[in-house]
Order: sequence, then structure tokens, then C-alpha cells
Amino acid sequence: MRLVLVGPPGAGKGTQAQFIASHLSIPKISTGDIFRANVSGGTELGKLAKEYMDRGDLVPDEVTVAMVRDRLSEKDAQDGFLLDGFPRNVPQAEILKKMLAEFGTGLDLVLELVVDDEEVVRRLAGRRTCRSCGKVWHVDFDPPAVPGVCDVCGGELFQRDDDREETIRHRLEVYQEQTEPLISFYTDEGILVGVDATGPVEEVTQRAMAALRRFAG
Ligand SMILES: [Zn+2]
Repeated sequence: MRLVLVGPPGAGKGTQAQFIASHLSIPKISTGDIFRANVSGGTELGKLAKEYMDRGDLVPDEVTVAMVRDRLSEKDAQDGFLLDGFPRNVPQAEILKKMLAEFGTGLDLVLELVVDDEEVVRRLAGRRTCRSCGKVWHVDFDPPAVPGVCDVCGGELFQRDDDREETIRHRLEVYQEQTEPLISFYTDEGILVGVDATGPVEEVTQRAMAALRRFAG
């Protein structure tokens, strides 16, 4: 199966990508992993990407696309893959479609993890990080015995800037702006399936697998 996984920050996308890929015995291909592999491997594309990242700039689409193309050409991706983090926008989706057509294939399905904004805010804004050991707690789901104090080391807990409600809401807005056109694109292609991503991790994986079976069967 050739799959793409999309979902907002806080939807547990990375975890689901790993579980779904291992259930299907296909490689999980994330842009983060591809970047790291190219940079640490010192490839030409990696060097190019690193120049942009070192300047704090976004890596241009052409560089990302070239890395994805290299990765999808590898042997383990010939019978299927799960893409995480690519495509990010409609132009990238169109490029991916063309690329796969050149390989004589196409995407089977795009899974969209669906979580409402308030749930994402509750999940992320409740996180508290220990200043001393770095352990992450959650005020509702994984609270320390004494509020504000790390159970493990007695360190002080604080809320990272990334976990502040306004930061999260901004990231959600950016995600929606980028992703809504992508969702429409794949809806028009007839390959988009939404998966309710609330509840325990294993349940979400089961729902995703059920959606895949329905579609494949
Ligand atoms: Zn600690």
C-alpha cells in the first residue's frame, strides 16, 4: 500500500505513522528522517538542505522533492510506503502524483487524523517539562504527585513556549491554511479517508487499520 498520513500538531501523527507502517510491513518515510539521513550521510542534497537550515530558512520544495524521490526509489519502498510530512501543500501533492506515475504507480490512500482544536489545545497546553531532567508531565493525563514538582528528580516544572496555548493555536491556524487545500485535493482524487484520532493510541491505530481494510476490500 502507498499511503500518506496527514494530521494536525498534537494528533499523535508520528506515533501512528510508526504503528500503521509496522502493521502493514511497509517503511515509514518521514521528511524529518530523510533530512537527517541526507545531512548525516553528507549527500549533495543534504549539504544543500543544511545550508538553508543553518540560516534558519525553509528548505526549498525542489530540495525536499529530490530527497523524497531518492528515498522512494530505494528498494524497500517498491511495494509500499507510508509518507509522513510530505506532501505539505497542493504543489507538492501534484509533484508526488507525477513522480509516482513515472514509477508506474500511484497513491492508494490518504489518511487524515481528525482531532478538534480544543482537544489539541488540551493535549499540548497541559504539558509541563522538568527544568532539571527534561521529563514531560501532563496536568490532566500524567500529573506529578505535587503540582509543579518533578516526581523523578524534584526539579521545577515549567511550560515550554511551544506548549503555550497561543503558540498552539497559531500552529493550528497555519496547519489548516496549508492543509485544507491538500484535503480538498485528495478528496477530489477520491482517496481521502478521515480517522477519528481522539482516545487511546491503540484505538486510533485500530480505527486507521479498519479504514484501510474497508478501502482495500
Ligand atoms: Zn525531573
